[in-house]
Amino acid sequence: MKVFNTLSGQKEEFLPHGDVVKMYVCGVTPYDDCHIGHAMSYIIFDVIKRYLQFRGYKVKYVQNITDIDDKIIDRANQLGISTRELAEKFTDSYRADMKALNIIEPDETPRATGEIPKIVEIIQGLIDKGYAYPAQGSVYFRVRNVPDYGKLSHRTLESMMTGESSVGSDDKESPMDFVLWKATKPGEPSWESPWGPGRPGWHIECSAMSLKYLGDTLDIHGGGQDLVFPHHENEIAQSESFTGTTPFVKYWLHNGLVQLGKDKMSKSLGNLITIRESLERYSPDAIRIFILSSHYRSPLTYSEEALEATERGVDRLRQAAHEEGEGAIEEGIDIEPYRNRFTEAMDDDFGTPQALATLFDLAREINRANEEEYNATEARETLKELAQVLGLTLKAQELPTIDIEPLRQLLISINDRLLEAKLKGIPIDRLPDDVESLMELLTSTRSGLRDAKLWQLADEIRVKLSEIGIALEDTPQGTAWKYKR
Ligand SMILES: [Zn+2]
Repeated sequence: MKVFNTLSGQKEEFLPHGDVVKMYVCGVTPYDDCHIGHAMSYIIFDVIKRYLQFRGYKVKYVQNITDIDDKIIDRANQLGISTRELAEKFTDSYRADMKALNIIEPDETPRATGEIPKIVEIIQGLIDKGYAYPAQGSVYFRVRNVPDYGKLSHRTLESMMTGESSVGSDDKESPMDFVLWKATKPGEPSWESPWGPGRPGWHIECSAMSLKYLGDTLDIHGGGQDLVFPHHENEIAQSESFTGTTPFVKYWLHNGLVQLGKDKMSKSLGNLITIRESLERYSPDAIRIFILSSHYRSPLTYSEEALEATERGVDRLRQAAHEEGEGAIEEGIDIEPYRNRFTEAMDDDFGTPQALATLFDLAREINRANEEEYNATEARETLKELAQVLGLTLKAQELPTIDIEPLRQLLISINDRLLEAKLKGIPIDRLPDDVESLMELLTSTRSGLRDAKLWQLADEIRVKLSEIGIALEDTPQGTAWKYKR
């Protein structure tokens, strides 16, 4: 099995350090809803974990939650709630999104604010070894003491000097140095430390949590390509300086970024599509297949047209997985070539596009076998098994459930009133006022059904109303109603 290692810039044979593959992926900063960029990264590393397990490895997967950060503080202030409330709200929404996308929960999801003692211990250790220094209640990492700094991002010193990490405080010895502990500012949440009250910097959190939960040597560290510099470069500097063990990570894996048109999908450009918005339109299987049909290191362009086409493709897979046409003619499909193609593709740096193509070819053969009434039971089981390695459930799509009981009651009520009016000989244009409000409710419910493309239910309402003497007219301005004379 070969994986592309950002550290060496090439594909390498995958040889884990111990019996259990230790895997760490940078997690979310829960200050807003997750977008498709998050879906891409977490689906890819979910598939990598699933594939390693399929190949017989035991895997321990850790993913952190950065629940204290400038963005969290700013947003909480805007909303007038505590940072804790904000982080909890969006951590819940992140968990719901991951579940909906069929992403297996990591073995550990430590939160930064829950790991302050470990963070303080590492910072103190770095100070003791001369790799860090306190200044004005903050603590900075001394980059010049790490001769191989830049080995992951393959950057020159000049390009790193002009990078965003060089911006900042006058308290630093060098513009290259980065913050490990931030002295508290008025109104900000803070924790006690040997250097005074403050909070951890972002980079040190990931070093602390990976060292605590996985030990000094990780097999796989993942994240988006935008994290290579400075975040992952700094994680290496911190971790290797603290433990004295090199390498901190054997294989650095980075996924490409999601684009919308020619632009990167990002909060600052305001072109984000949230996971929830996408799930309202497409099934989780379609979203996964869409993401996995590009190689994980390539950029992915989000496109509604491509997703719609993918949804139709998923239907073919679902049909093959569920069609119970266990034909009488016994002619098993030879599944070995499919298994081999799948494994070869995935063994080559997780070639999901080719792995998916194999599943579609197998599905085509199963669907043909069904038509010709050949038996395809074993092939169907193989399809489901391999689909699961990519996290695809191939479940039949659930139709939206609608409680029609209130609607039925409404119709009965209108019917009763009309009947009553007729019996008492009341002229029909002098009905009680509440019929008006009932009709308003009913027509707006019906247009809701039409917007949801539930034509049959909407039509049923029109027919039922017609039966009790009310005619509906759909106009561009909305739906009007009148009594039929
Ligand atoms: Zn990280």
